[in-house]
Amino acid sequence: MNLILLGPPGAGKGTQAVQVAATMGLAHVATGDMFRDNARAGTNLGRLAQQYMECGELVPDTITIQMLLERLARPDAARGVLLDGFPRTVEQAQALDRALRERKQQVDLVLLIEVSEAEIQKRLALRARTDDAPETISRRLRVYDAQTAPLIAYYDHAGKLRRINGEQAPEAVTHALLAALGRDGQ
Ligand code: AMP
Repeated sequence: MNLILLGPPGAGKGTQAVQVAATMGLAHVATGDMFRDNARAGTNLGRLAQQYMECGELVPDTITIQMLLERLARPDAARGVLLDGFPRTVEQAQALDRALRERKQQVDLVLLIEVSEAEIQKRLALRARTDDAPETISRRLRVYDAQTAPLIAYYDHAGKLRRINGEQAPEAVTHALLAALGRDGQ
């Protein structure tokens, strides 16, 4: 089973992804974590990615897609993945569809964690660290609206989208996510 966790910055994707991946026995694949690991390790990829991350822009598709495909080729991804932070553009979604089709798999479900604009602003203001400048935060939100939000229609048309209310306690969100996956009562 291959799942995607979708939602705006501040929706709580990262926290939820860890829980859902563990319960469902899926590899948790977070492209943001992969870029940050690379940046810490000082690799060329990390240095390049950091320039985009710092200003709230997306790392270019070709680089991101290549990194993701290499990750999907690792053995632990064969039994299924929970994607967190990927895809973020329609081009990435199409590349993912092609790659999974080649191995006779597919994106099974896309879980959209919905949070209102006002709540996002509130959460991101609380979360702001020195390396998260206000301009970076607002840029990230605009980038989500322009480049990532179109994925909602993309997966809705494919009949794969499930909407989850993200304005509940974290445990209630986890419960709703698992219920959408048929794992109620966990
Ligand atoms: P995240 O931890 O998912 O919020 O990602 C942090 C940053 O990493 C983003 O603001 C982007 O700069 C970059 N990033 C993560 N995933 C992607 C992706 N799928 N496509 C492009 N850039 C990404």
